[in-house]
Amino acid sequence: MEKTIITDKFNRPLRDLRISVIDRCNFRCQYCMPADQFGPDFEFLPRSALLTYEEIERLGKIFVQLGVKKIRLTGGEPLLRRDLPILIEKLAAIEGLSDIGLTTNGVLLPKLAAKLKEAGLKRVNISLDSLEDELFGKINGRGIGTGPVLEGIQAAKDAGLGVKLNMVVKKGLNDQDIIPMAKFCKEKGLELRYIEYMDVGSTNGWKMDDVVTKKEIYEMLKAEFELEPVDPAYFGEVAKHYRYKGTDVNVGFITSVSESFCSSCTRARLSANGQIFTCLFNGNGHDLRNFMRNGASDEQLFGRIAEIWNGRNDRYSDERTAETNKNRKKIEMSYIGG
Ligand code: SAM
Repeated sequence: MEKTIITDKFNRPLRDLRISVIDRCNFRCQYCMPADQFGPDFEFLPRSALLTYEEIERLGKIFVQLGVKKIRLTGGEPLLRRDLPILIEKLAAIEGLSDIGLTTNGVLLPKLAAKLKEAGLKRVNISLDSLEDELFGKINGRGIGTGPVLEGIQAAKDAGLGVKLNMVVKKGLNDQDIIPMAKFCKEKGLELRYIEYMDVGSTNGWKMDDVVTKKEIYEMLKAEFELEPVDPAYFGEVAKHYRYKGTDVNVGFITSVSESFCSSCTRARLSANGQIFTCLFNGNGHDLRNFMRNGASDEQLFGRIAEIWNGRNDRYSDERTAETNKNRKKIEMSYIGG
């Protein structure tokens, strides 16, 4: 397939696409979709507002023509979207796309892992913030213990999917789990990525003081394990990696707060209702769904996406201070896709 390389205002190419397939979730993680804000009366997107699988496939092909190599499906909880393996199959057939991943809380993996793998999925990132049932239930806002997630991890491994774990660390909430999670993952041969708690959206009450930085976590790990740095695998890789010496097990950090990586950010995000966002922290989406439903041709969609990317000048995390979080219109992670 003929590819056109487009760049933004800071010369960053378009390489990755995150697609949120649904804004609903079966968890109410307090740092993402707090239960008091996303209660029983919360109005999620109606089904008709969501992009269909055919629409996602069509946009996926155009994004790939514009340079995208990797697509990650997310949400909300992507496994709540009905017949997700059908979408994976469609995306896996796109020529020129080298990788498809999925971020999930893992609870539905025992049911779906084998079908997802069969459809062409390669990797899953599973979120797990604590190994303590009670604390985990408190964090996920649903009282769900670790059992269903651990079963999901096992199901993904059994199905032959690559598995990484994500742990968001929030000060005073789950920092005591940093070392137990490292030990657990090292023993199981799983890569764990510590994610700095971010100021996404406006419902989680984020404060800079709640962030446990990579440096703090790294110091804790160094007191327990021998670590060696691992070179980035490619330009724009988000996580910074280390390896436990004498093993082939890596541990990573997503340092969006303490060591921002805007200068190498090559990621666009497509919300479940078909808006493109050029940054996780930019609340202004650009609609593609209505444009498409009103009859735009592939050439017109191509031109529109190129125009949006060419105009991109986001570098929020580079500029973040305790103050930038205030008075800024931001979008919830459950909507834009984490
Ligand atoms: N439901 C799926 C899951 O649990 O992984 C996918 C969506 S979730 C929004 C994607 C990732 O974003 C998860 O790893 C989650 O922990 C992370 N996340 C959500 N809110 C965050 C925040 N405020 N700061 C850092 N990471 C966050």
